[in-house]
Amino acid sequence: MSEQDVILYRKRRDITVEGYDIPKPVRFFEEANFPDYCLQVMTKCGFVEPTPIQSQGWPMALKGRDLIGIAETGSGKTLAYLLPALVHVKAQPRLANGEGPIVLVLAPTRELAVQIQEEAAKFGSNSNVRSTCIYGGAPKGPQIRDLKRGVEIVIATPGRLIDMLEACHTNLRRVTYLVLDEADRMLDMGFEPQIRKIISQIRPDRQTLYWSATWPREVEALARTFLCNPYKVIIGSPDLKANQSINQFVEVISDHEKYPRLIKLLSELMDGNRILIFLETKKGCDQITRQLRTNGWPALSIHGDKAQAERDWVLAEFKSGKSPIMTATDVAARGLDVKDIKCVINYDFPSSLEDYVHRIGRTGRAGAKGTAFTFFTSSNARYARGLVKILQEAGQSVSSALAALARSGGGAMGGGATGNFRSRGRGFGNRQLRSGSNAIPVAGKKPW
Ligand code: ADP
Ligand code: MG
Repeated sequence: MSEQDVILYRKRRDITVEGYDIPKPVRFFEEANFPDYCLQVMTKCGFVEPTPIQSQGWPMALKGRDLIGIAETGSGKTLAYLLPALVHVKAQPRLANGEGPIVLVLAPTRELAVQIQEEAAKFGSNSNVRSTCIYGGAPKGPQIRDLKRGVEIVIATPGRLIDMLEACHTNLRRVTYLVLDEADRMLDMGFEPQIRKIISQIRPDRQTLYWSATWPREVEALARTFLCNPYKVIIGSPDLKANQSINQFVEVISDHEKYPRLIKLLSELMDGNRILIFLETKKGCDQITRQLRTNGWPALSIHGDKAQAERDWVLAEFKSGKSPIMTATDVAARGLDVKDIKCVINYDFPSSLEDYVHRIGRTGRAGAKGTAFTFFTSSNARYARGLVKILQEAGQSVSSALAALARSGGGAMGGGATGNFRSRGRGFGNRQLRSGSNAIPVAGKKPW
């Protein structure tokens, strides 16, 4: 491509880049120079062309440089880091006995870690690159066995990985390619101490890659302390933004109107397609699920107080469509890629605008259309202005009730400048107060 072609291509696909010595984007899978077996899987999946984050993220990651990659929910970020990871592994000396992984991917939830590993297995299976998933709640035995046997790629949630490191079941001396998926979440108050601990065990000349759909300005400085001369690639606006293929409806209502409205919505929407309902608390999840089931709706629930086996089972039932309604806390807000979620309902408004973007991003993935309904009460007024901005940016209409709240509510704007990231915290205290608990926020202890 000529320089002019590059400029036009980036413009057409809404790609913004920062950093020095930036490689040209790739327009076709073939241009990325991935091994044939990767291309074959891609063809089998029916993929036609790289998504924008892949077309610019691949050549950057393949340069061996650090990277911050920001692109909307459902835009193929997983493969944006996994395929260069496979190339990276192949370029390293083979693992010797007792050596730990070469690639480490950290993710905030168990279900997301498992999903990423499934993708790694799918694309790495023909290449003798082994991967495993290290996550809490599951038996340690098989995980330890995998680690001892030697795996090139480890996908992990931080807590269980630290357990494994402390028990010397693995080590990070061979890690040269580190990924933080959902990076803003991984660097917030809940995870930062664990991330620090893990990164302190990895060689400083590693390649580090961050990915997310949201990137609050407040996180940037901390994030860059773990990076060296990073590239930054942003698809679309740098402000907090929602995926444009999601139809967003925000309904200003009062608390006691929520349940009847939910039932009405379900009656209108239910056609066997999947519907995901988000609630603020685990208790709320259980309560609404019970109520729905009593009223004859096929609902199951997933949250952090449930045993992992049940979480796995519930997600499988939801994925297979056997139980088309799932209620969830924010444990399901990030990363999960379930086909044909027709609609997301925010029964309770989340405790940050970033979470709003991620929650509704469970629908409208990989070019599909989706719908999101959000119940918004006067107690959420401080998010009204920021929410209006997100709606407007995505070309959605704003009801007069919401506009009025935005005028009177003040509060969080979201999206960089004004930020609502609450100084890297997710307002755990805030969240827990609202859920009626007096628990002291503890780093690493997840309210969801
Ligand atoms: P993100 O991490 O950006 O939210 P994912 O990596 O989970 O998105 O990808 C969303 C969906 O898009 C997945 O089902 C994935 O298989 C699919 N996908 C990935 N790359 C492509 C592509 N180039 N063309 C079409 N679909 C793709
Ligand atoms: Mg993702």
